[in-house]
Amino acid sequence: MIYKQFHNKVIVRIDKGEELIDCLKTICKTLDIKLGSIIGIGATDKITVGLMNTKTKKYQSKEFTGDHEITSLVGNITTLNGEVYLHLHVTICNVEHKALGGHLTSAVISATFEGIIDIIDGQINRDYNDEVGLNLLSLK
Ligand code: FE
Repeated sequence: MIYKQFHNKVIVRIDKGEELIDCLKTICKTLDIKLGSIIGIGATDKITVGLMNTKTKKYQSKEFTGDHEITSLVGNITTLNGEVYLHLHVTICNVEHKALGGHLTSAVISATFEGIIDIIDGQINRDYNDEVGLNLLSLK
């Protein structure tokens, strides 16, 4: 993983074999980024995505292996209990060019990942909301 900062933007390259979320978290911690957005594209051969079951309030996860393009990753950077918290959603496509996606849990990069982090000078925490079972943005 390698990155370069230009004012409030960080250009990110994540390499083959590296885990995407680990790398993005490390960059946020190293550069002390507590609020911002992330976009990216790339390729993965092992990815787990989730879907929130709103009745059980639990994520149903599914792993996909083999060649997939990360056609779009979008997400935000906030904090939970003061620690960096990434909320990332992803769309991938398989060898048949069919799109799949969900809430990103983990992804191993198979070729490269190219991301841009947009830093916002501030901090937004999250609070657990029992009604939906999620850590919601705390904006009060
Ligand atoms: Fe989500």
